[in-house]
Amino acid sequence: TQFIDFGLSQPVLKALEEVGYTTPTPIQAQTIAPAMEGRDICGIAQTGTGKTAAFALPILHRLSLKRTRAPRRGCRVLVLSPTRELANQIAENFSEYGRHLPLTSTVVFGGVTISRQERALANGVDILVATPGRLIDLIERRSLTLEGVEILVLDEADQMLDLGFIHALKRIVKMLPPVRQSLFFSATMPKNIAGLAEQYLRDPVQVAV
Ligand code: AMP
Repeated sequence: TQFIDFGLSQPVLKALEEVGYTTPTPIQAQTIAPAMEGRDICGIAQTGTGKTAAFALPILHRLSLKRTRAPRRGCRVLVLSPTRELANQIAENFSEYGRHLPLTSTVVFGGVTISRQERALANGVDILVATPGRLIDLIERRSLTLEGVEILVLDEADQMLDLGFIHALKRIVKMLPPVRQSLFFSATMPKNIAGLAEQYLRDPVQVAV
């Protein structure tokens, strides 16, 4: 299988051609088609396997097909990441693969002043990449609402729990619309993570690389 065989929208294919990707990695080969259809995914994959594109490409494809406005102070896609470094990388990848699409995105994390992030969210963004603690802060300050989220990505779930984000994560997921697409990734799948996945996902496609 090559990227052109998935039926990804033209702007996404064009960006892939420009970054020089032709062949999907194993996680991409298993994830992209079902995620494009709107299926939930439970993936066991480490960093370096191409997992970011495995969720970013189908998400960009779906956003390009269904062009609605991002809700005020909200987002259509919420990507939760355990660390600021990873959040930045994910946001950069979305910008790169989405460069030919008229989509907005922003990244928020703790340890920096919140007011710039609040301004960036005021009119809403299509894609929001966030660390859990700062996301809760923004919600408590009424600068962000999760009512309009269509797609949730939980990246590096195991690391998120190791860093003590379980309480924040549970609070966040409770605020999301129950009807949504959810993409769940973890490098390992111990019982507690599998339990979370089972709670948050609906008939997921299981993928392991
Ligand atoms: P990730 O696991 O998402 O951190 O991706 C690891 C690296 O692989 C990143 O630098 C990507 O730019 C690169 N990459 C992802 N998918 C592909 C692909 N299909 N072909 C070539 N490089 C890729």
